[in-house]
Amino acid sequence: MELNENARIDTSQVDDRRGSGGGGGGLGIPIPTGGGGRGGLISLVIAVLVALVGGGFGLNAATNGGGSEQGDNTSLEQKCAAENALDQLDCRNTLYVNSIQAYWQNALPERFGERYAPADTVFFSQAVSTGCGNADSGVGPFYCPADRQVYIDLTFYQVLAEQLGASGEFAQPYVLAHEYGHHVQTLLGTEAQMRRQQQRDPDNANALSVKLELQADCYAGAWAKNATGTADAGGQRIFTSITEQDISQAIDAAEKIGDDAISERANRPVNPDEFTHGSSAQRREWFTRGYDSGDPKQCDTFSGGV
Ligand SMILES: [Zn+2]
Repeated sequence: MELNENARIDTSQVDDRRGSGGGGGGLGIPIPTGGGGRGGLISLVIAVLVALVGGGFGLNAATNGGGSEQGDNTSLEQKCAAENALDQLDCRNTLYVNSIQAYWQNALPERFGERYAPADTVFFSQAVSTGCGNADSGVGPFYCPADRQVYIDLTFYQVLAEQLGASGEFAQPYVLAHEYGHHVQTLLGTEAQMRRQQQRDPDNANALSVKLELQADCYAGAWAKNATGTADAGGQRIFTSITEQDISQAIDAAEKIGDDAISERANRPVNPDEFTHGSSAQRREWFTRGYDSGDPKQCDTFSGGV
């Protein structure tokens, strides 16, 4: 994977709240994923970090979940305008966000006839206040449908590499593309529809959640296929190359965060009924489907089996 050094990094798509202290968090009581309504965070790997790091999943939906805090982007802006910006993890991730949103800006109208509404990614450290309640890093990166923002503590990539064994750089844009997949589901109404279905049919709540997650993986694959075609506001390509090895890294990451892989690592029995994100094989399968077709319309996980 190679990024274009001449591409302009648009930091306005990121809200840098690191160092702002975040919002509360603290000692939370683990709450199962799924849920509904405005408290429903959609995480990439919610179970992982709880299982592995034993971290407090400090989501408290009752507390002032405004998500309206604004970070100070000045230092990020300066850093990402400097010459060696691409050596910086936060600047590279900002550029990944730029590429993913540039893709959907075209693909959503083209493939679904809907307008794309941009969503910021919030960089936070440790804890953050969101429209879905307070969350801490232990939940991993997530998308909050209530305030339509992606949240990530960038130290998650260390956990991904060191504890989950997915160390390739391309795992990073995959993670972000998965979260933006949830944003697209919100824009298309898929997410709201799925929540209603879960309420009508609580026995299938986990199975429905798996379908939503696998679709986000498939959307990530569709972005990956088209990523070299994405450009900054001035028309400069963002990626100059993406190799098969990069794609393997994304698939590897998708597998490493499959529910069965996580259960095994945590020495818990593998129980498909408890899966909320999909097995490793399913995650590989749906990312690949999006990648091979390059078409998000091929990502219908809801009509048939997964
Ligand atoms: Zn997800």
